[in-house]
Amino acid sequence: MNTLTIDILESWYQNNYQYQLSGKRLVLKDIEPILQKLKAPFELLKIGTSENNKTIYRVKIGNGPKKIMIWSQMHGNESTGTKAMFDLFRYLEDHLDKSSSFIKTLLEKCTLVCIPMLNPDGSDNFTRVNAHDIDLNRDAVTLKAKESVILRRILDDFKPQFCFNLHDQRTIFNVEGFKNPATISFLAPSIDQERTLTEGRKETMSVIVAMNNLLQTIIPNHVGRYTDEFYPTATGDNFQKLGHNTILVEAGHYYNDYDREIVRKFNFYALLEGLLFLTDKDTYTDYKPYFEIPNNGKDNYDVVLRNFTDDTNTQTDVAFQYEYKLIDNKLVSTLVEYNRGDLKAYNGYNELGKNK
Ligand SMILES: [Zn+2]
Repeated sequence: MNTLTIDILESWYQNNYQYQLSGKRLVLKDIEPILQKLKAPFELLKIGTSENNKTIYRVKIGNGPKKIMIWSQMHGNESTGTKAMFDLFRYLEDHLDKSSSFIKTLLEKCTLVCIPMLNPDGSDNFTRVNAHDIDLNRDAVTLKAKESVILRRILDDFKPQFCFNLHDQRTIFNVEGFKNPATISFLAPSIDQERTLTEGRKETMSVIVAMNNLLQTIIPNHVGRYTDEFYPTATGDNFQKLGHNTILVEAGHYYNDYDREIVRKFNFYALLEGLLFLTDKDTYTDYKPYFEIPNNGKDNYDVVLRNFTDDTNTQTDVAFQYEYKLIDNKLVSTLVEYNRGDLKAYNGYNELGKNK
């Protein structure tokens, strides 16, 4: 049961994903009407408000002893995890309607608590930080932000055994040893500078191994692993240290998928596989293949202009990245020069002027 049949999943996805959510920017008013339509056994609750007084919601489903917490958009401009979470809600709804036995089992064995947009102000402003310029993912110790306090309260009340912390990573990340973008990257965060391999971290890694195994069958060599350097103020590192196994999922780039509408699907598949794995197993010990997942590299650019002749009549390569800002409440992208020089070792998703 713990391995999804990709063909069945692909055809389900095509017809049933949450099409009402799309694009790179998602704000609270995009998700609110969908949340409000969720029916039992989904339970919707307002768990607090952001610094700018926007509602933060949580969705609970299932009654089982395995407690799993999932949150997205703690960085407001990272919406792929939110789209994947709503695809998951669709999957659960649809399979409950069909009385699917494995979803019944999932909800008997697990209780899921999902927070679909932890930073609605950052989402509105299309920023990483909250309305007070705080990076919630570096606020786990001092808890300066209202949103961080809410997340921590839910964690302390619910006491999840496993957490999924959903983020987006930039297009510059490739899979080390490949030109491929790191379409999904994972991390089992460290709990100390020594990066001690605790039992909890091994359990976290074993979930990642299951998720990676599934993804490798669809997007081979497009999965990366983040550095496990210890970040003392990061959410994942602190939650892991408190005994809540925390899986960091970073949705990245896929070819021509700047809106991350393809990547959201892979993100959803990975999440679903993680949940089915947790449902199916009672011990989580197969962690070693985690170390075989290649590291994230930083070798890719959105556009590379090759052999450009500059003002001094020298040939050089120039790399550009898309940057996004809100103009009149619309997200606008511009190409910004990012690097210049001999960029042979780097790859452009779009290579221009190659054979001049
Ligand atoms: Zn992030």
